[in-house]
Amino acid sequence: MSSDLHSALLTWYRCHKRELPWRGERDPYKVLLSEVLLQQTRAGQAIPYYHRFLQRFPTLEALAQAEQEAVLQVWQGCGYYTRARNLHRLAQQVVAAEGTLPTTVQGLRALPGIGPYTAAAVASIAFGEPVAAVDGNVRRVLSRLFAWEHPTPKQVQETADALLSATNAHPGDWNQALMELGATICTPQNPGCGGCPVAAFCRGKASPGRYPAAKVRKQKSLELVALVLQGPAGVYLERRQGPVLGGLWGVPMEEGPGALERLLARFGLDSAELLGPVHHEFTHRKLHIRVYRAPWMAGENPLHRPLSRLDQKILALAGAGPAHLV
Ligand code: SF4
Repeated sequence: MSSDLHSALLTWYRCHKRELPWRGERDPYKVLLSEVLLQQTRAGQAIPYYHRFLQRFPTLEALAQAEQEAVLQVWQGCGYYTRARNLHRLAQQVVAAEGTLPTTVQGLRALPGIGPYTAAAVASIAFGEPVAAVDGNVRRVLSRLFAWEHPTPKQVQETADALLSATNAHPGDWNQALMELGATICTPQNPGCGGCPVAAFCRGKASPGRYPAAKVRKQKSLELVALVLQGPAGVYLERRQGPVLGGLWGVPMEEGPGALERLLARFGLDSAELLGPVHHEFTHRKLHIRVYRAPWMAGENPLHRPLSRLDQKILALAGAGPAHLV
């Protein structure tokens, strides 16, 4: 079965793969950038960021020399900003040491923000190392092919490794073929089994929705208050801290009981005008934000700062978003 499955998938991949700017790319820096983007962003949405990033930072050296704020500005709107901060640190670390990216999974794993999937993807695509890259797409495809409801990470990795070692194709092509199948045909909802190149080998195709069983995702709800301090020159912005939005800029915000009072006291204000609610979701958090506005003398144009989508929404509600101040 194995060699038939391989040739069915590879033939399909060669004919039907999506045209993406990083397809066929072997330059390690560009491969790395595409894989970091694809960690949490769909291919279609990642394309403009990929071009923008390379235009601004065409090499690892150029990225290493940049200010973190400039990197975040290019990443603005793409979300999961830890990726951009880590990529920047990685560039500085590599350039300060040997100057080029490590060529093996082991070497890549030691770099900031590089997990097992990204290391395997870069090592296989850019350097031809025969290692299986297992992401969510590959886990889903294999679970369906072998009708696994509750696959363990070890089971998935070992099967992916065994499949990879049985192909003569370039390891990067094989990895990308499996991922492409998961991204375009064996999708989470309504997989296209009728047009699937490996349907003949699939044990789960009678009820693909069963494989793998859905994981329960817990989302915490948080109540916050945001204060837009607005003046003739723009709005008051401050640099955010913390792992999610650290390094980006935004309006003052507080969480929990007494949040508004704390914000008013911080800026010596008696009151502020309630503008309305903004809702925003991160992977594990649902934010419900009451947005207030008060007049303020000192302010700046938010166009000049890297802002998260969350802050763009808040500023838009106040009529003070970048688009309002162009
Ligand atoms: S036949 Fe259906 S479930 Fe099986 S791999 Fe293809 S798309 Fe996925």
